[in-house]
Amino acid sequence: MHELSLCQNLIDQVTELARKHQARSVASVTVQIGQLAGVEPQLLETAFTIARAGTVADLAEMVTEVVAPRVLCNVCGSESEAMPSSLLCSVCGGNDTRLIRGDELILARVEMVVDD
Ligand SMILES: [Zn+2]
Repeated sequence: MHELSLCQNLIDQVTELARKHQARSVASVTVQIGQLAGVEPQLLETAFTIARAGTVADLAEMVTEVVAPRVLCNVCGSESEAMPSSLLCSVCGGNDTRLIRGDELILARVEMVVDD
């Protein structure tokens, strides 16, 4: 399962952060999923409950945010949000665009519980 290996990678990053901050536990993990990343938020959340077991993020909640693709237009030079199906420039309607965001999975925020 694709999502499980992604989650194991996320857990690795979260564990590393928690260790660095000497966190007691992790409360929540927020992940941004690009609409073109080919990742199903529901599957990712399910995989996360498997990947987090026995780690410092054992009780952490996963929050997923779906991010619309952004394109840079080669015709008019504008940067705009685009439909995942067409990737047209929303300023001039041109189709000569370059994807600058929307096909990635980003660890956006980690909420940790730290002892005073
Ligand atoms: Zn344009």
